[in-house]
Amino acid sequence: MSRFLDPRYSGLKEYVPGEQPRDRKYIKLNTNESPFPPSASVMKCATESETADLRLYSDPSQTVLRKKLADHYGVKPENVLVGDGSDEVLNFCFMCFAHGRAAFADITYGFYKVLADLHSIETRIVPLADDFTVDPAKYEGIGIFTVIANPNAPTGIALKVSDIERIVASNPDSVVVVDEAYVDFGAESCLPLIEKYDNLAVVRTYSKSFSLAGARLGYCFADAGLISDLDRIRNSCNPYNVGRLSLLAGAAAIDDAAYYELNCGRIAVNREYTTAKLGELGFCVLPSSANFVFASHPGISGKELYSGLKERGILVRYFDLPRIDGHIRITIGTKEQTDALIAALSEMIGGDR
Ligand SMILES: *Cc1c(COP(=O)(O)O)cnc(C)c1O
Repeated sequence: MSRFLDPRYSGLKEYVPGEQPRDRKYIKLNTNESPFPPSASVMKCATESETADLRLYSDPSQTVLRKKLADHYGVKPENVLVGDGSDEVLNFCFMCFAHGRAAFADITYGFYKVLADLHSIETRIVPLADDFTVDPAKYEGIGIFTVIANPNAPTGIALKVSDIERIVASNPDSVVVVDEAYVDFGAESCLPLIEKYDNLAVVRTYSKSFSLAGARLGYCFADAGLISDLDRIRNSCNPYNVGRLSLLAGAAAIDDAAYYELNCGRIAVNREYTTAKLGELGFCVLPSSANFVFASHPGISGKELYSGLKERGILVRYFDLPRIDGHIRITIGTKEQTDALIAALSEMIGGDR
């Protein structure tokens, strides 16, 4: 730290992303990326002429992609905003709507706490139940800005839309953000509720189900009033927040929606296969609606699982945090990757199986 840093940031705990090591080739099951490549239409969008146009700024009003998303999801363009990853959209939500206070779960996406700290927002931490489920009653009438990941991360457990609706309806004077980063893998979306509630923002990403983590594309569906607030902040931070090629890739991906649905189906099938295989090895696996599973084993710690797998060329995510340090989060990749994972774990756990 230099002596020039504004003291308000001197205690800031940064978000620590999952490792992206370059030292050797790993089976990467640690950052919930897709094992499948982007679709054919996306592969073709970086043409020579589009690349030449990189000398020009990108469209600050994101017109084409907003329209594309609006048409595909059955909303109006004024209900859509696009961000440099959904992390940026979440940042704008905290800046716009928190009014100094934010509620979220003790075990959830780590970025929420980082954003709250970044903007000096006081947090109301709402513990998950012992079985790691969200109790919607704890958010009913809470009266402050609320963020819920659905399905939750890193647990993978999803809430029903009717439960989220009760939370949104009981807090009419506060914004509720539903982070649907993993919704395409098997949970119900709250998107239909944005017509009914002016205090709901549904945040999504291209990083997981659309195989575009490296394009940095996220989006938000909400009442036109909320979108105009988010645009005010976006235009005040970085009006060209999404690059030309990423805007193109996002629109092209929507043209191949069927390909991505197929991939999500393949992931869901492999998730059940992985869960069953882990169960045979004595793991306890939480019921996941996402593209990862959260698993623990009575005989071996999360940290040992993580390092034993890393030695064997497989990366998973381990969180050294209370309540979840016995667990590892495993991204669901291909069936071949699962088989390699299971073989490594059998070797580590041993026994006559
Ligand atoms: C991966 C993830 C995001 C961030 O995605 P980007 O669009 O890549 O920034 C947001 N929320 C949750 C819960 C995630 O797991």
